[in-house]
Amino acid sequence: MFGGDPDYAARRRKLVDRLAKRVDDEATLAALRAVPRHEFVPESRRDRAYEDHPLPIGDDQTISAPHMVAIMTDLLDLGPGDEVLEVGTGCGYHAAVTAEVVGAEHVYSVEYGAALAERARETLADLGYGDVSVRHGDGREGWPEHAPYDAAYFTCAVPSVPDAVVEQVRDGGLILAPVGTERQRLELLRKTADGVEREDHGGVRFVTLRGDD
Ligand code: SAH
Repeated sequence: MFGGDPDYAARRRKLVDRLAKRVDDEATLAALRAVPRHEFVPESRRDRAYEDHPLPIGDDQTISAPHMVAIMTDLLDLGPGDEVLEVGTGCGYHAAVTAEVVGAEHVYSVEYGAALAERARETLADLGYGDVSVRHGDGREGWPEHAPYDAAYFTCAVPSVPDAVVEQVRDGGLILAPVGTERQRLELLRKTADGVEREDHGGVRFVTLRGDD
């Protein structure tokens, strides 16, 4: 580049081509190709939006690295029309990726930080994802009004998956969460009529759940 606009689209294509070596689900890759990550991060960070790293988004929070969003989207095995609950809207990027796969009107996201929730709502609307529903509140309670969900995921680490969220997912549905405090494991839970089956997907590092206890 010679002082002009950085070619974000080209950078994004390159990033997703690299991610395609680790994730082969076409819908996930198409979603990552479609969502302009640079529009979700603070202006001062835009230049780094297509590096595969987390970035600060204000309020001491971070947007996950693109490969983590890809892995999570892939593990949830989402399809068009699936109803999805997200806990931790942050800047809204991950919600937009999910919206690309299931349709924006099927995404319900809860964010603890009032300013983050407000900004995410605006960014999502500006970029054509205005049908994503964002609620300012404590995601430990889930969002009962729109239950049951086909899938739920946490973008912050939980000491254990909150019962309310398990209750709000239908039988056969999936829940994905970083579980732990300092050291966390990415756990995929399948809710069945008899209880919950767990699958471990390795060590991860996410910001921890906010709340008063
Ligand atoms: N998916 C986000 C990542 C945000 S980081 C993105 O694409 O930007 C995790 C987010 O979880 C933070 O925004 C944090 O404020 C939020 N969070 C933490 N505890 C929460 C809680 N109890 N309820 C809802 N959101 C919470």
